[in-house]
Amino acid sequence: MSELKFTVEQIVWQEVPGEVSLAFLFSGCPLRCEGCHSADTWKADIGTELTADYLQGRLKRYRGLISCVLFMGGEWQPEALKKRLDEVRAAGLKTCLYTGLERSELESVSDGLIPRLDYVKTGRWHAALGGLDNPASNQRFVNLHTGEVLNRLFIRQVPAAAAGGTAK
Ligand code: SF4
Repeated sequence: MSELKFTVEQIVWQEVPGEVSLAFLFSGCPLRCEGCHSADTWKADIGTELTADYLQGRLKRYRGLISCVLFMGGEWQPEALKKRLDEVRAAGLKTCLYTGLERSELESVSDGLIPRLDYVKTGRWHAALGGLDNPASNQRFVNLHTGEVLNRLFIRQVPAAAAGGTAK
């Protein structure tokens, strides 16, 4: 199976801080995290193939409105994913990958993925640790140009009054 198939496509504002992203959720993740919110996409043969033509059509439709394309999965078809990443960058947009793998694991899946990304979210889902909005999370969101971990941008700040503080 080498096709990149997606089951959901949407515009998102929060998944990549500071960017308006066209996001695709791909099928076929084999990691089987307990409590996965996308367990219905585990089967690899479901969804619509993200072809070059389809992607170009979406990039044309959203030109000037989006700044990034977010790939939620897809690392299991690295050659197809690399082609789509190259096409996104050629259109002048940023790229982000959400993967359940650790960075070292991602590099072993394909050594050409990281250089094609501006941002990456790594780490399996562990319900007890939570996602990026939880300070205890094992997951990391990284700006690959600076190496900066940006998890703090996902953690909702509680207003001082709501937290029991006093207004100045
Ligand atoms: S890595 Fe993500 S999509 Fe894959 S099983 Fe874990 S939570 Fe689900």
